[in-house]
Amino acid sequence: MAGSGTESATQTSGAIPLYPSNWLYNAGVIGFLREVQELTQENIDKFLDPQDTKILLRSQWIQECAKEYKRLHFDKNKEKEKDKAWLRIVGKNTYHKNYWQTTGEWKKTEKFQSFLYQLSDFQKLERTECSLCSRGYSIPASMVKDALIDKFLKDISHFESRIFSELGGAPKAFPNGFWNCKSNLPICHLCGYLLLFLLSGFTPPPTEETSVPSRSIFINAPSFPMMWHLNQYARSVFHRSQDVRQILGLSLIEFTIRQQVTLHRWALQNIEIVVRARGSLEFIQLPAETVQVLTNRRVAQQLNRIGELKILQLVLENKIDQLLEIGQALLRVAMKDKIEDAEKKFIKKVLPYRAPKDQLTEPDRRERLVEIAYQILTLNAMVREAINGE
Ligand SMILES: [Zn+2]
Repeated sequence: MAGSGTESATQTSGAIPLYPSNWLYNAGVIGFLREVQELTQENIDKFLDPQDTKILLRSQWIQECAKEYKRLHFDKNKEKEKDKAWLRIVGKNTYHKNYWQTTGEWKKTEKFQSFLYQLSDFQKLERTECSLCSRGYSIPASMVKDALIDKFLKDISHFESRIFSELGGAPKAFPNGFWNCKSNLPICHLCGYLLLFLLSGFTPPPTEETSVPSRSIFINAPSFPMMWHLNQYARSVFHRSQDVRQILGLSLIEFTIRQQVTLHRWALQNIEIVVRARGSLEFIQLPAETVQVLTNRRVAQQLNRIGELKILQLVLENKIDQLLEIGQALLRVAMKDKIEDAEKKFIKKVLPYRAPKDQLTEPDRRERLVEIAYQILTLNAMVREAINGE
């Protein structure tokens, strides 16, 4: 893995490297980064090296989260502010049941903060077993002087309902994708905290103010910078389509156009979208050839230029011949003196977004219709070249 040789240097500067692992852990890390960006107003992009697969977790980010807990004081009157799952850790909340207790000494917010400050002191953490991040960062027992914290640390050392109630504590219901079928899954203290951000990694993130969204998605990939960007793009295109394959396709197109990165074949073959609906998870991948086509810069730019989901859908379904047929048919219609009603219907059917937007059925819009027809014909040629690796 790139960058592993610099670990000791980065640790002493208040950062530790996090490498991609299974989707559960990855979503936690991406969710953490999203919340940190919102809290600090710092653009996370500048901390990402697009050529690397890891990210450097900065200790001050955990400290910023600690300050936010202090600001809210676990106060029930401020529940409305705590619409984010990562802040809802007390008592019987929906996602992290009894993560932190509400009785006696537990009521002291400072105790939870002291846990976070200890967790952010990376140089003092010890390496322990962890089924999620595989590297494992935990607060050493010698540093824990408080019986309450000691109990809390033991509680979060296993993946169970307090970490994430939808999955933990019901071994038979665990979805596939990462699981080793053991009901007792040891995790490190750092993962025990980062997983609170799991749902923030999904789009749209859930809130308890409104009803839980019927569906949310997370794009899993073998690189944190790639995952960060893909999921940000997914968030920005979510309103355009309800089809998860289209959302993944649109996100890949955005990534390809905006990020000057050459993707390795192995990376392209390991991009999946995790769809979370109430009580179930689904894992969807696009065929490797389709990903290869969408991440071809010329194809991505051409699809973006056309801007029609129906045309993207044909690429997603690998119906490349239909691109040729549609392009030729549109060209024929555009060349005629008069556009018949049946032909107007055809234009609206194959270009449901463009037709009304560009008024393509109007007589004075022939030039635009010809332009789009040529764009689709060119796309057809580009897709064929991309498939053949040209
Ligand atoms: Zn871990």
